[in-house]
Formats: sequence, structure tokens, C-alpha cells
Amino acid sequence: MKRAGIVSVLGMLATATVTATATGAAPAVLAAPAPAAAPTHSAAARSTACDGPSLARVRAGAHAVEPHQPGRAKVTAMEKDFKNRLGKLRKQRVKAMTVRVHFQVVYGSAGNVPDATLNKQIAVMNAAYAGSGVSFTLAEVKRTQNATWFSDPEGNEQAMKSALHKGNAQDLNFYTADLGSSLLGWSTFPSDYRTQPAMDGVVIHYQSLPGGTLTNYNEGDTGTHEVGHWMGLFHTFQDGCSGPGDQVSDTPAEESPASGCPTGRDTCPAAGADPIHNYMDYGYDSCMTEFTSGQTKRMQDQWAAYRA
Ligand SMILES: [Zn+2]
Repeated sequence: MKRAGIVSVLGMLATATVTATATGAAPAVLAAPAPAAAPTHSAAARSTACDGPSLARVRAGAHAVEPHQPGRAKVTAMEKDFKNRLGKLRKQRVKAMTVRVHFQVVYGSAGNVPDATLNKQIAVMNAAYAGSGVSFTLAEVKRTQNATWFSDPEGNEQAMKSALHKGNAQDLNFYTADLGSSLLGWSTFPSDYRTQPAMDGVVIHYQSLPGGTLTNYNEGDTGTHEVGHWMGLFHTFQDGCSGPGDQVSDTPAEESPASGCPTGRDTCPAAGADPIHNYMDYGYDSCMTEFTSGQTKRMQDQWAAYRA
């Protein structure tokens, strides 16, 4: 499968064809999590980043870049703004966060996902986020037949979202489409909302929904993971072994994304084994079982700063 910014998988030598579409949205900064990787705003970065280790919420062995993932300079700017906004808020902290889910089912000759699957996806997320005070309610299911958007949602992201996006900062636009053979999903961050509200949301491979055909990635946790970004969480492997990492103190540093379910993996000198069971890593759905209390706190603060 060839697609903008996505490299084919499963051992096939891939050539990353990159279009400049990017998403005029949010400064789509795409860079490797490695500390040395300078963030860049150019779409060209996507092709070079594909030469590195697996960087996306992708199928095992795949090389692809999860769109919108920020490099260190972008993260620094995001965190400065975040702390500034938090400081201006009264002491009040969000306790319950209710997210209204707008399923945007984009389909072509396939992909018209049934309501039952969407309801299961909501249930998966409600279970995963139960301890974090986040709950998801179904607002609507909107079905759009558009073979072009369905087969290349990344290349057509701006047009698709501009036409379909619904609601405000507390409305989760959950697009489903065919993301090809490697990429499973991507998301925008809460701080992107102010400048690009119509681009807000997650885009998820329709076959990664519960019961889909993507073996090891078909229990709905691509949705869980991408919504984690939508709630303001970074990857557990952000910055690798050095630097501020994911801005959460109770997720041990991790040099690179975990794949599968490598129990005991420990890639950084700092204390603690890799958080391979964390939803913000890249393990199999069956391996991902937790958010930490630090991540819960961050989600609450991000919600207060950008979505409340
Ligand atoms: Zn991710």
C-alpha cells in the first residue's frame, strides 16, 4: 500500500512518498523521539524519519510516522504555554471529564463500520479511562461515503476534517478510515485546538476497531492510545532516555517504542523497567493495560487548560 508519509510494512522495502498536505493544522511537527532529532515543520521530515525506528502507532515491524507528533523544541513550547495557562487558572481542578464522541465513519467500497462496533469502541475507552475520571458518551454517528478520503485520510486530512468536524473542544471527532498497511492512527493535541479547531480529533484505522482484521491491534486500543494524545499525553518513549520525556514522573524513561509485549524490557539506565503496559507505548492491544496517576493528573490539567 502506498500512501503519503507511510512506508509499507512487513519486511517490504518501502519508499516513503510524502506529500506536502500535512494538515495545515497545528504546526504538524514530525520528528523522531530521539533527542538528537531536530523538530522540523517540513513535510519532508516525514520521509527521513521513516528511516529510523518504528515511530508510529503501527503494526509490528512497520516504519511509519504518527502524524502531528512533536519534537523536543515543539514540546518545550507546548509545555511553556501549558504551564502559563495552568498558572492563570484558579485552584479548581477538573474531577470528571465527559467527552462527547462524534464518530465520523468515512467509507468507500469498504469501511462502513456498523454501530455495534462503534459502541464496543466506546466501551473499550470507558474501561481504559475509568480510573482517570474520563468518560465517553456517544453524541452521533455520521457516515460519509468518500472513496478518496477513505483510502488516504492522511493526504486528505484538511479537506476531510474541514468538511466534517463537529462541536467544540470537548467533542471528540473520531474519524475511521483505511490508514493502509502500517499506520494505525494519529491525533491532534489539546493545545492545537485554539488555532486549528476544525482539525481537532483522532483518525483511526477502521480495522483496528474491536473485532477488526488487524491481528494484535484489533481490540480498540489504537483508539485508547490516540485519545491519550487528544487528552494531552505524550508517548512514554518521548525523548528516549534523556530529557523531560513525556512530562510525567511515574512513567520510567524508555529509549524507543516497545513492540509486542516484551516483559522485562529495560532500555534506559534510569530506574524502572520500560512502561510496556502503558497505553501510550506501542505494544499489542492485549499488552496495554494502564495509565499512571501522573498521566491522569496531566490529563486533568490539560483538560482544564485547553478543553474545559
Ligand atoms: Zn501515539
